[in-house]
Amino acid sequence: MSDHKISADGLSIECHAPGNADCRMRPDCDTERWDEFYCTAHDPSHPVIGGHDCWKLPWVNSTMLDETYSGPGAPVTIYPGRGVRISWEGDYCTWDYERGNTNA
Ligand SMILES: [Zn+2]
Ligand SMILES: [Zn+2]
Repeated sequence: MSDHKISADGLSIECHAPGNADCRMRPDCDTERWDEFYCTAHDPSHPVIGGHDCWKLPWVNSTMLDETYSGPGAPVTIYPGRGVRISWEGDYCTWDYERGNTNA
């Protein structure tokens, strides 16, 4: 099963990743910047730990899905339930459908 997929109503992306997945790993503090192990905003740094809500979803769900779509064939056709990949672009996230996964 895909970690991320289009919701049943086709209006947003859902996260089904386990608590130790990249998208649910972050420091407990309110920083928006962290590396693989620690936040980069505080001294001493706070460790990155799992079990948080997915930090990617607010990026892709804060606007219409066709505005954050990065795949080919825009305007995008929304397929509820289809698995997607969310990519961090340095300042924002974009998403694309997973390849070879048409029966999600
Ligand atoms: Zn911190
Ligand atoms: Zn996620």
